[in-house]
Amino acid sequence: MLFKEVIGQAPAKQELLNKCAQDHLGHAQLFCGPEGSGKLSMALALAQYLVCENPQASDSCGTCAGCTKAQKHIHPDIHFSFPIIGNDVLCSDVLKTWREALHQSPYLNMEDWLQFLKADNRQANIHKKECVDIIRKLSLKAYEARHKVLIIWQAEYLGKEGNVLLKTIEEPTPNTFIILIAQQSGSLLPTIVSRTHQLLLKPIDSPTLAAALQEKLTCSPSRSEALAWQAKGNFRKARQMFFDETEAWSKVLDDWLSFCYQHNLAACLQWSSQMHARGREKQKNFVSFTLDFVQSLLNYQMLGAQARLNNTQIELLKKWANILPLQRIGQLNALLNKSFFYLERNIHAKILFFNLSLQLHKLLQTKHKSVENMSQP
Ligand SMILES: [Zn+2]
Repeated sequence: MLFKEVIGQAPAKQELLNKCAQDHLGHAQLFCGPEGSGKLSMALALAQYLVCENPQASDSCGTCAGCTKAQKHIHPDIHFSFPIIGNDVLCSDVLKTWREALHQSPYLNMEDWLQFLKADNRQANIHKKECVDIIRKLSLKAYEARHKVLIIWQAEYLGKEGNVLLKTIEEPTPNTFIILIAQQSGSLLPTIVSRTHQLLLKPIDSPTLAAALQEKLTCSPSRSEALAWQAKGNFRKARQMFFDETEAWSKVLDDWLSFCYQHNLAACLQWSSQMHARGREKQKNFVSFTLDFVQSLLNYQMLGAQARLNNTQIELLKKWANILPLQRIGQLNALLNKSFFYLERNIHAKILFFNLSLQLHKLLQTKHKSVENMSQP
């Protein structure tokens, strides 16, 4: 991961880069901060920087063999420890699953990781056998890079076993860097904390979080701003809300488009009443979601299925791309934008959505005739 791919956190990135440039980076780092602030991403970026063959002043080169392997999480000199299930299992036994989790999102939390492990109700831990294996791994020479790096994610789960690592953290083998990651330093043994250099990450500021949602998830500006505000600096939460919302709104949108297409006025009226009852913010949220869908529909018609869409979104696109011709998408976009404008001015939502349903019916059915502009209901 490159530093520039870590969302926000500019002062923390600069602090690490300065220390690297001055050769003052402490051998034991402790990255603390709230969930979704990017501790693991920052650790991945630092690890890549340390194994990069051609590091630049502001980032890894991104193209050398070291960077290529680090980006795939397969660099032999970047080691990982994290909570696992079962006293006989080592992290090296579940690296494939760990890499899958990182590829999906390095902003994962413990709940996400337990789902990857199919944990059910079983407890995960970083147990003594794993700590002994950490010491073994770090005693080996670096395979390819100048440095070896060990990232211990969710270091809180070390518990008292952390004592086994005290000597290693205090006096690691030459050219070795250990990065511990925890939400709060208070949840670690004080004897460990005192041997580390701490880097505190803050929640990501809302504009930066909104921009990241737009860039990484194809989320519209209005929707991303609402999600960023609700997530309070937690990218993991914002991302999860985006997917949950997408799942729920996809069903609502599919029903509505079907009623409009069939010209089922009774169903359209009932649907409009239900939307009215959801309240203004949800209504605006739904229109923003539908605007995102329309943009995806355009992309889909022009470029085919996009990798960042999930199965629900792709099924919905396939279905409606066959019914809504490309030349109507601009008109649909204009209708939705007007609706958003009227919703912000407190128009009666039931009337607005019913009127919009009638307009949508014309759009979905009319192949050639132009559609009148939507008038204020
Ligand atoms: Zn590189």
